[in-house]
Amino acid sequence: MLIDQGPVAQLTLSATHKALTEKSGMDRASGFGPLIFACAKSADENGEETRRSRVQIPPGSYSKSDSMLLKIYESLLKHFGPQHWWPINDKTNPTYEICVGAILTQNTAWANVEKALNNLIKSNAIDPRKILAMPDEKLKKLIRPAGFFNQKAERLKAFTRFFLTNPKPTREQLLALKGIGPETADSILLYAFNKPYFVIDAYTKRVFSRLGLIKETQYEELQKFFEQNLPKKVSLYKEYHALIVELAKKYCGKIPRCDKCPLKNICKYDLNS
Ligand code: SF4
Repeated sequence: MLIDQGPVAQLTLSATHKALTEKSGMDRASGFGPLIFACAKSADENGEETRRSRVQIPPGSYSKSDSMLLKIYESLLKHFGPQHWWPINDKTNPTYEICVGAILTQNTAWANVEKALNNLIKSNAIDPRKILAMPDEKLKKLIRPAGFFNQKAERLKAFTRFFLTNPKPTREQLLALKGIGPETADSILLYAFNKPYFVIDAYTKRVFSRLGLIKETQYEELQKFFEQNLPKKVSLYKEYHALIVELAKKYCGKIPRCDKCPLKNICKYDLNS
């Protein structure tokens, strides 16, 4: 069972840290100090960045927190650099474009989503009213590269009808929409509406279970794990998720390439298992 309370978190992660320390011989001097798994409660959302495509958090920004999650974050940021998520292709309606991208990226690679988005941009259709006015067959044709185009066209129109009358959607409202699950809802809330929801995806589950930090697979429990143990900061959540995706794509694939991974010294994954 994953951590769902502060004391439990501390116990579980202390055990994890002990194991990691024993495995890697790490100590404070090595940069991964004793694990005080701080449930940092910082920062309300006032003054959060409003830029959506360029978020940079310099390493060392959170000197108060000594958590493993932040150390991992800083290692990833140092290795990969800022990821500039969410990528915006058309400047006319970035909030809506992020929502469209979050729906189109379900069950497909981002490269395919970009092709679909470019088709929409060429048709001047990153606009909720134009999407709603567009004949279904035309919309399906434009988003075809993203796959599941019948289903996605229907979901896109349903979301767009909602979007026009709900400029500040809640998580519950989004989850009530057909075809919007937790990952899509949280991507929309975090990247389009700057709300502090940590996005969990298959990459996050794979990387952090290999690191030995999680066992749970339920979305809400995993999200709680990150949100309870990181400063509640939109820019951090955005960059962290993007860095996890980058790590999974570059090194921690189905067959991991651990030799060059920036987390190899703390990872519990046994290549021979
Ligand atoms: S060391 Fe290997 S298994 Fe661990 S996170 Fe890196 S690539 Fe994944």
